[in-house]
Amino acid sequence: MDYIVRMITKDAPIVAMAIQGHDLVNRAQEIHHTFPVATAALGRTLLIASMMGEQLKEKDASATVRVQGGGPLGTILAVSDSEGNVRGYVQNGQVDLPLKGPAKLDVGRAVGTDGSLTVIKDLQMKEPYVGSVQMVTGEIAEDLTAYFAQSEQTPTACALGVLVARDRTVQVAGGYILQLLPNAPETVISALEAGIRAAGAVTPMLERGMTPEEILTAVCPGMELEFLETTEVSYRCYCSRERVKGALISLGKGELEEIARAGETVHIGCQFCDADYQFGPEEIQKLLLEL
Ligand code: ZN
Repeated sequence: MDYIVRMITKDAPIVAMAIQGHDLVNRAQEIHHTFPVATAALGRTLLIASMMGEQLKEKDASATVRVQGGGPLGTILAVSDSEGNVRGYVQNGQVDLPLKGPAKLDVGRAVGTDGSLTVIKDLQMKEPYVGSVQMVTGEIAEDLTAYFAQSEQTPTACALGVLVARDRTVQVAGGYILQLLPNAPETVISALEAGIRAAGAVTPMLERGMTPEEILTAVCPGMELEFLETTEVSYRCYCSRERVKGALISLGKGELEEIARAGETVHIGCQFCDADYQFGPEEIQKLLLEL
């Protein structure tokens, strides 16, 4: 079961959250048949979107993370609802690149650094909030750190890890975001930096079976932690036959008539999941009558 846990510290101005996201990233791989480097890049983007969505308090709010790094993967998009349930896709999921080191996927090269990372927070009010930064490394976590620093003026440490097995299934996936509240003293900052360094990368911690709570404990050594609520999260798509129908109608009369003339069943796939919506010739005729 995937979940997000929130944490505060009683003795330092830090807020944090961590995610166990194996199932949702594995589901994304199943849906999109992504190769390992694409699974890692999409997975990291899904993990971060999930945590950012879960931070939103408004009921129908959503958080979108769009990565356009100019690399061979093309655009990566992840959308979360306000409970951390996510969906997403990567434009070119069947990209293969040489490893960067022993068992180390070259996510940075696959994503690219010639472009931007954009966050859209739609709180269902007038205008969505949009913030964008130049890509830094293409490894997603560092790019997100730059986003938080530049667009939200919040010093943030972000770590994400996705490990893919030889058979392309996901072995582990998870990560954390640590944020310093304003006026954090220098001692707290250096303690945190030391803790993050000592704990090391997320993937090995997940491989050792560490939970999100244990990972946060490892990166905040010696601090008095308080774990707040946990939220179950999953890969979730909100597509429906009604929505697809709406999209068909919006094609307009001319195009629908053409489809009707062809007299074949139309298949419309969802870009986020493996749903396949079929519309037979009679149904297309009925849509035409509705127009
Ligand atoms: Zn769908």
